Amino acid sequence: MTKPAMTTDASPAPAVRSTGELAEAPAEVADTRGSGAGVERAAKESPRMWPDEADPRRKKVPEGLWMRCVACSQMIYRKQMEANLHVCPQCQHHYRIGAAQRVEQLCDPSTFEPMDEHLTSRDPLHFTDLKPYPERLKAEQERTGRAEAALTGSGYIHGRRVVLAVLDLTFMMGSMGSVVGEKVTRAIERATEQDWPLIIVSSSGGARMQESTLSLMQMAKTSAALAQFDDAGGLYISVLTDPTTGGVTASFAMLGDVILAEPGALIGFAGPRVIQQTIRQDLPDGFQRAEFLKKTGFVDRVVPRGELRREISRLIDYGGK
Ligand SMILES: [Zn+2]
Repeated sequence: MTKPAMTTDASPAPAVRSTGELAEAPAEVADTRGSGAGVERAAKESPRMWPDEADPRRKKVPEGLWMRCVACSQMIYRKQMEANLHVCPQCQHHYRIGAAQRVEQLCDPSTFEPMDEHLTSRDPLHFTDLKPYPERLKAEQERTGRAEAALTGSGYIHGRRVVLAVLDLTFMMGSMGSVVGEKVTRAIERATEQDWPLIIVSSSGGARMQESTLSLMQMAKTSAALAQFDDAGGLYISVLTDPTTGGVTASFAMLGDVILAEPGALIGFAGPRVIQQTIRQDLPDGFQRAEFLKKTGFVDRVVPRGELRREISRLIDYGGK
């Protein structure tokens, strides 16, 4: 039951947020006291309280072993957070993760076979913002070790064979240019040919501005491929993660037979400020978050990261695939 694509708005993707969420914990936890009269008084009472004379054992804490959770502000043990699928063990805040980590979390070990890894973007528009687009791409490729912002392939989830496409936030904010659109389309076509369930995990700042209208065309291309997949009786499970915005939201992310979302994920087309200025109304609490969209019917189910594998395999069985 493919739903019609939303109108394609040519407005630029909403401003992207910093990916530097994993705040570094102070290396020396002992040195966080303030200065001033209070410290002087403390020093008189107990000279050993001076930072220079702090417990030497504390100085051995390696940098970044602890981190302060951006959501609940508690100090959490980084390894524990990572072992918990990058979810805060205290408040269940879901941290953003890259495509490779996502594949590792979702697929049965060593079953994922990537495809179309060689595809890279050209620069037909000779676009230059702060620097030329080819330079920007090259820098991102060197930094991430990845050719583009999508990872696609086939694998098994709890023993069910699937085609999996994951957008990668770490590469140009997961933005959709012609290569991301092409990779997603090829993944859909593969699922159609093989009659395998299709899982797309979205996390994106939207259409890639550097490729202008070529990016916007990917919305129609992916949607058309999904319509064919639907005609062929395919099962498409869309997983929305933080953040899913812009042209990705307005195309394949919202066309799932079943749409799942991670808790607290930001999901929307334009940013809240743009909407507020357009409709001149205050926006409700929790606007554009997964739970709000569940309530309003855009999202079918909010699923914690730790339950995604089981939920997807259950839906595949339910869909008769
Ligand atoms: Zn937390």
